[in-house]
Amino acid sequence: MALALSPCVQVRLVPMRSPPRTTISMGKMTLEDGNALILVGLQRDAFPGGTIAIADAPAIIPIANRYLSAWANLGLPIVLGRCWHPPNHCSFRTHGGPWPDHAIADTPGAAFAADLLVPPTSIIVSTGTDAADEASSAFADAELDSQLRRRGTTQVFVGGIATEHCVLNTVRDAIDRDYATVVLRDASRATNVRPDDGADAEGVMAELGAQLLALETLGL
Ligand SMILES: [Zn+2]
Repeated sequence: MALALSPCVQVRLVPMRSPPRTTISMGKMTLEDGNALILVGLQRDAFPGGTIAIADAPAIIPIANRYLSAWANLGLPIVLGRCWHPPNHCSFRTHGGPWPDHAIADTPGAAFAADLLVPPTSIIVSTGTDAADEASSAFADAELDSQLRRRGTTQVFVGGIATEHCVLNTVRDAIDRDYATVVLRDASRATNVRPDDGADAEGVMAELGAQLLALETLGL
């Protein structure tokens, strides 16, 4: 990680002019200062063997790891959002909610997906930590917005699980907070309780002003 952080250190030491730091082209976009990565819900319970498993969720892990690596190599902010629920959380069917019990704090199901390479400098945001707290957006943690702004963030790239839930709500909050917002489609999966839930959510996010991208536009 020391190597990954060095460009960031250089920026701080030489504030007078544009730093000669590396950038990564994303098609017509360039990954650069001001870009933050936000991945949500990549926890074991959403993967095969978990309580709310999505069958093809494992396919997004290598893609998520490429995004994480790109951001880490440039020393850009990385946020990992996670459900972190008490056993009596209001989103659980056993307590009147729509979902099976999942991501109970400090249990294996709440851990990040086994092969996800989480950089140690990542900002971890826990949501739904109180029984009555339905929040699923990473921005439900009021400190996240100020943490990102302190680091000069103007654009966020959001992916994870589930598209129609945590991703959608995080994107909505990011746009409300005036961040230019990109949805990383290939690092996202829907639960699709109704078959079109994921596609509908993508439509909503596009209508809100989010740009939808995939890894093939990432020039790594
Ligand atoms: Zn949850």
